[in-house]
Amino acid sequence: MGRGISGLQKSILEVLNEKKGMASTKALKKAIGRVSDQSFYRSLNSLQKRNLIAWYKEHGGPHSQGGLVSLKRVNVLLVDVDSVIPNLALMKLSAFHKAQGDNVDLSRGPKVPSKIEYDIVYISCIFSRNGRAARRLAKRFPNAKVHLGGSGVDLKTTLPDEIEHLMPDYELYPECDYSMGYTMRGCIRNCEFCIVPKKDGKAHHVSDIYEFWDRRHKKIVLLDDNILALPQHFKKIAKQIIKEGLRVDFQSGFDVRLLNDDNAKIIKSLRIHEPTFAWDELDMENAVLRGIEILKRNGINRAIWYVLVGFNTTFEDALYRVNRLRELGQRVYVMLYNKEELEDRRYSHLRDWANARMSFASCTFDEYVRTRENGVQKQMAAARKERKKREKQLHPILQGVGIKSMPRHGDL
Ligand code: SF4
Repeated sequence: MGRGISGLQKSILEVLNEKKGMASTKALKKAIGRVSDQSFYRSLNSLQKRNLIAWYKEHGGPHSQGGLVSLKRVNVLLVDVDSVIPNLALMKLSAFHKAQGDNVDLSRGPKVPSKIEYDIVYISCIFSRNGRAARRLAKRFPNAKVHLGGSGVDLKTTLPDEIEHLMPDYELYPECDYSMGYTMRGCIRNCEFCIVPKKDGKAHHVSDIYEFWDRRHKKIVLLDDNILALPQHFKKIAKQIIKEGLRVDFQSGFDVRLLNDDNAKIIKSLRIHEPTFAWDELDMENAVLRGIEILKRNGINRAIWYVLVGFNTTFEDALYRVNRLRELGQRVYVMLYNKEELEDRRYSHLRDWANARMSFASCTFDEYVRTRENGVQKQMAAARKERKKREKQLHPILQGVGIKSMPRHGDL
C-alpha cells in the first residue's frame, strides 16, 4: 500500500478490490461499517485525486447507473513453503488473480522477497512439520491480507468454487511440463495415518480431465485419493485418457483391495509402466498376494508398492513386507512415517536399500547394511589417516592439539 494512505482509504481500496467491479457508494459504505459521511467522501476524493479509484457510469436504462471501481493493480504473493511437486492450489489462485489483471509473484521455500509490498499473500504449507514456520511467515505481512492454508496447517480450508474449477496457471512453475489435478477426492476407508478422510470425506468425483488438462501437455498427473472406489468414474476417466493419447501417472496409487480383472484390464490399457499400489499393514497380505495374481493374469508382471514404515508397526514387520514383495518380483518404495522422529537407523537403511533399484535387485538387506557399514568404516579410517598426516606437517608444538583446543598466538 502506498505511503500516506489512511486506514479508511485502505479499507475502501480493499473492498473495491475484493468486489472486482463497480460498487455503489451505498454498498461501499455498508461494507466498511460505521464511518461519518464527511470522512467517507473526503477519503473518496483523495483516492480519486491519486488515480486509485474512479467513478464509472453506465447509460442506457431508464436511470443512469454507476459506481466506484478500483484502478489499483493488486500485488499478490503466493508462497509455496514446502511442496514437492508444483502446488495445484497456488496455480489456481494464480490463474484467478492474473485473470483480474493483478500482479502475481511466486516465492518458493520459507524465504520471501522483502522489498515489494503485497496487498494479498497466500501461504501454502503441505507438511505439518513446517506449520510453525508458515505461521511465523504469515506475521511478516502486517499490511497485507494473508491467507494461510494447506494440509500442514489446516485440513478444512478449501478454495472457493469459482477458483477450484479454474484451469491451473502452469506458467507459475516453468519446469511443469504436465497437467495435474483431481478427478475425485475422498476415500471409502479410514486409515489411521491418513488425512484424506478427515480432509475430503467420502469418495466423490469432482471433475474430469478436461477441467485441468492443458492441451500442450502429453502427460497428466492425477492426484485422486482412491479412484478404484468409484468404478464407473474410473472407466470414464480412463476412456478420456486413452482417447487423448495421454501418458498418465496416478500419484496416490491404486487400492489393491479393490483390484479385480475388470479394472486390472483398464490399468493395463492405460500403458502405465509400473502401476503403484500400497501395502501399509501386515494384515493386508492376502489382498496383496491376490492382487499380484490378478495383475499377472492381466499382463502386468511388476508393480511398485508403497510400504509405509514406522507407524504402529515394528521394524521386523516392515522388513517382512519389503522382503515378501522382493521375493514376488515386485518393486518397493519405502515411505517413512514421521521420519524426523524415527530414531532407529535401520528404517533409513531399509528405505535407502529398497528405494534404490540397483541395490534392491542385487543384494539382501543384511548384505546392504554390511557393505554400507564397511564403507563408512573405510571412510572413517581414511579420514583418521589424513588427520594424522596433517598433524605431522604442523609445528611440533601443535601436534596432537585438536582444532577446538588450538592455543591462540598469545598463549604460545
Ligand atoms: S486407502 Fe489410501 S486414501 Fe484411503 S484412507 Fe487409506 S491411505 Fe488414505
